[in-house]
Amino acid sequence: MGVPLRQQYTVAKYLLRQRLKGNRRYPLVLMLEPLFRCNLACAGCGKIDYPDEILNRRLSVEECLAAVDECGAPIVSIAGGEPLLHKELPQIVDGIVARRKYVYLCTNALLLKKRIDDYTPSPYLTFSIHLDGNRERHDASVCQKGVFDRAVDAVQLAIRRGFRVTINCTLFQGEGAEEVAAFLDYCTQLGVEGVTVAPGFSYERAPKQDIFIKMRESKQLFRDVFRLGRRRRWKLNHSSLYLDFLAGNQSYNCTPWGNPTRNVFGWQKPCYLLVDEGYAPSFKALMEETPWHKYGNAKNPKCANCMAHCGYEASAVEDAIKRPWKALWVSLFGPRTRGPMAPEPVPEYEIPAGTQSRPAIPLKVVD
Ligand code: SF4
Ligand code: SF4
Repeated sequence: MGVPLRQQYTVAKYLLRQRLKGNRRYPLVLMLEPLFRCNLACAGCGKIDYPDEILNRRLSVEECLAAVDECGAPIVSIAGGEPLLHKELPQIVDGIVARRKYVYLCTNALLLKKRIDDYTPSPYLTFSIHLDGNRERHDASVCQKGVFDRAVDAVQLAIRRGFRVTINCTLFQGEGAEEVAAFLDYCTQLGVEGVTVAPGFSYERAPKQDIFIKMRESKQLFRDVFRLGRRRRWKLNHSSLYLDFLAGNQSYNCTPWGNPTRNVFGWQKPCYLLVDEGYAPSFKALMEETPWHKYGNAKNPKCANCMAHCGYEASAVEDAIKRPWKALWVSLFGPRTRGPMAPEPVPEYEIPAGTQSRPAIPLKVVD
């Protein structure tokens, strides 16, 4: 696992405290989206398809820090849009670090070289750099040539300057296991602390819809990748049971309250992936008002193919607390890559007549 012991200890202490308090629902990672504006226009992005009036909005430093205090999660993931476009981001990051929360600043890294002097290396600050695969794959994914090379330069610069650096990789249609394995080898050579990897979520707002992998294919791809990784020294930034879930060995219910989202509209229900489900005015209202029982693979057609960490990492962590021996076994020996997969959730919603499987998210026609 690519997470320092100090951070693991803080998170374990926090989880224990929540259990002792008898809290059934609690946040693990706050997703803070202080703006939606970006300097790229990726095909699989669900954030940038807003009118200028929305893209020009920013959360203030005070709003961001109030969200961190209100939520209380030990980890804050700052995403967007492109966070480095926010002029007050250094003050936001400093404020979160001063609260001894672990910040993952998710960036496409195009501005990192220019802005790196605004930040100070700290055990609490990690640059999580967006790379969706090797040069050809990443440049195609972000729809612009040369972005891979600039991101890699920024990774190397940040590591030289003493920052914690991870890679944030989303897998889309057409990826082969050998290609993903070669990419993970490359990340290891780069010397990053870890890689987060997940199948892309079929955002309704994404400009292209035919690029997302279905759940069964995702599981097989992860099995094939993990089989190739048996004797390699990859550091994946996930709990062992979430990796086991990706490999099709666990059936989990989604726990989206583990990753609540605060953005320019308010607190997003139920997670940062689903739009049109509404917003709450406060974290407390989000936890109390959201009809959580309506979400998850079996419950909602919009969630049908979702395996995202914002829904299932917290479920895996919860399982690890209840069954630590199982988590230990997987972390020692890796996810099982052969044999039957855990049963897929049976949809509790109506499937349109004539369809044999669960419906995908309604497709938006793209020219
Ligand atoms: S870099 Fe991220 S926020 Fe920007 S367009 Fe791409 S996916 Fe969207
Ligand atoms: S299954 Fe995915 S999209 Fe649905 S609520 Fe959970 S995290 Fe969000």
